[in-house]
Amino acid sequence: MTMSPRARLESVAEELKARQARVEGHLRQVGEPALRDADDRFLLQQSDEVIQAIALRLGAEIEEINQALRRFDEGRYGVCEFCARPIGAARLSTLPAATRCARCARLI
Ligand SMILES: [Zn+2]
Repeated sequence: MTMSPRARLESVAEELKARQARVEGHLRQVGEPALRDADDRFLLQQSDEVIQAIALRLGAEIEEINQALRRFDEGRYGVCEFCARPIGAARLSTLPAATRCARCARLI
């Protein structure tokens, strides 16, 4: 299935938000035991500090995706912020929120 870049960004954002909700659920010690899977068991073994770090990291990733969506709406998505050349499609498919082309990312 091929997705438009915007649809891909939105699906990444959805997935990150679902993970964030789950991680925050663990912070509040809620959650349905019957629904616990490997991710839940992993989270249950972590300290609050580790879970908070994961929640922060997810929040930062969601913000990156939101910024990418804004750039998309402004017509700047997929353009390197340093050299203004297009960012390669392969790079954008692995790093949908990339703001630099592969060359600039290596140099800066
Ligand atoms: Zn560049």
